[in-house]
Amino acid sequence: MERNELIQEAFKAMENAYAPYSNYHVGAAVLCTDGKVFLGANIENASFGATNCAERSAVFAAYSNGYRKDTIEALAIVSDGGRIAAPCGICRQVLSELLKPDTPIWLSNGRDDCDTNMEELLPMQFSQEDVLR
Ligand SMILES: [Zn+2]
Repeated sequence: MERNELIQEAFKAMENAYAPYSNYHVGAAVLCTDGKVFLGANIENASFGATNCAERSAVFAAYSNGYRKDTIEALAIVSDGGRIAAPCGICRQVLSELLKPDTPIWLSNGRDDCDTNMEELLPMQFSQEDVLR
């Protein structure tokens, strides 16, 4: 699956966003090495702290189905915002553990695109190495 196809999958996931409070819709798609794709959308909650972001939803779905960082090939994250949706701080922490540092992360809002990875998004991350001394 090519980059633009995975971005289109993420836009399909965005249609399932549950965002009655922010009206800010985000979708994500994880491509695994065997070609399987897992989708995620942002799911908000009246207790705002319980909201889950699209990229965490998608990566948690992949992990829930047995995939791990070595079997995840790429992640696409899209939004309907005016700017591309770079992962929030919580997602950066989670993705820095659940993706390889160089796994491609493709961002788009349908107008602008950015290709990045966790090495770029969260240098000097707090990691397992800090906890499992
Ligand atoms: Zn987030």
